[in-house]
Amino acid sequence: MTVELICVGTELLLGNIVNTNAAYLAEKCAGLGLACYFQTVVGDNRERLSMVLRTALERSDVIILSGGLGPTEDDLTKEVAAEVCGRQLVMHNQSKKAIKKYFEQRGIRPTDNNWKQAMLPEGCIVLENHNGTAPGVVMELENAKVVLLPGPPNELCPMFEESVMPYLAGLTAHVICSQTVKICGVGESKAETVVKDLIDAQTNPTIATYAKTGEVHIRVTADAADRKEAMKLIKPVVKELKNRFGNDIYSTEEDTTLEKAVIDLLRANDLTVTCAESCTGGLLSARLINVPGASDTYKSGVITYSNKAKRRFLGVKKSTLQKHGAVSEQTAEEMAKGAAFLLKADVAVAVTGLAGPDGGTEEKPVGLVYIACSVKGKITVKKYQFSGSRSKVRDSAVSAALTLMRSCILEYFSKVTFGKKD
Ligand code: ATP
Repeated sequence: MTVELICVGTELLLGNIVNTNAAYLAEKCAGLGLACYFQTVVGDNRERLSMVLRTALERSDVIILSGGLGPTEDDLTKEVAAEVCGRQLVMHNQSKKAIKKYFEQRGIRPTDNNWKQAMLPEGCIVLENHNGTAPGVVMELENAKVVLLPGPPNELCPMFEESVMPYLAGLTAHVICSQTVKICGVGESKAETVVKDLIDAQTNPTIATYAKTGEVHIRVTADAADRKEAMKLIKPVVKELKNRFGNDIYSTEEDTTLEKAVIDLLRANDLTVTCAESCTGGLLSARLINVPGASDTYKSGVITYSNKAKRRFLGVKKSTLQKHGAVSEQTAEEMAKGAAFLLKADVAVAVTGLAGPDGGTEEKPVGLVYIACSVKGKITVKKYQFSGSRSKVRDSAVSAALTLMRSCILEYFSKVTFGKKD
């Protein structure tokens, strides 16, 4: 079955907003095993939208449109789609009531044009909108299904997951399931080399690698009659990946991020943590604190950007800074030790580096970062050389710090050794 995406909105054409709906929908449809050969962006224009939809109907089985379901004059997706599909717009009383309730709950008086959102193509399937006023629509035609979704991502994404995904899954006699193996501290090319034979031999399930900053995700996807059958196909491949990557895998759960894995590890071992950050300027703390429940382990942290701050708040020695410089193994180590002692934490991580774009030398080029991690006094310091823009270097340093924390904690408690698998 093929799917085609049409995103409606002049602001998308002008580049005023990024088309995140297209990326989101394309990824979800691929996960459902739908082949997507065409995506189009079209402005809020009746003739051009009509033309694009007619073309899509000639070549695709499912057409998903996003945007233009609002109450204003330029929101014309529903009107145009109904016309192209030969349907009248009729008042849908249940949606009218839902819109009324939506406004009552917020103490706002609806304007006349709000009722336009309850005018839906006759005979359509109505998709409830729990986060806004525009209902979604599915029109089932003889040769195609046309799905209309609201533009705001906070409305489109839940509606897609709650209503459209089960609907599309029901159209095919098979299911597509996947599991992602998430790896940290291993480069993409190394990871690909490790799984090359599996990728070369793949049929069902398929194996695909995705690089993220400081991480590699390997998605194993199976096509089967039902979920149980699909998971049966996925399981031995995930087991093999676990054999090959060992402790470099931080999770196989969809919702687990690297920072969540670190927070879970800290909590499981009853550890408190602190961060002393220079070039990352709080990004590391922010990622950790973004995890719900981080307060159990993260109590305080410091940003010590200048040499003076490193000395004053962390007790880094003046002689260390003079002799080795702020971006050095010795400074990183003293920062971590100072943070562990002064902020009274079991685990202390310190990051100091040159994020650029200026300030690099031959000896200390831009992208050079030292990260130190102290676990109950046992210190590990690592040197990294990152590349890319200032923000890329800072993001890479944060991912590396999370990876180092994780490996240091695991090593401390279980004597696991990392990075010695080849
Ligand atoms: P509303 O009821 O808010 O008018 P709508 O269904 O008419 O919703 P649009 O008016 O097309 O949707 O877009 C509303 C907002 O949704 C846009 O300003 C933008 O912030 C967001 N949006 C729309 N389309 C996209 C898209 N393809 N990707 C990301 N965001 C989008």
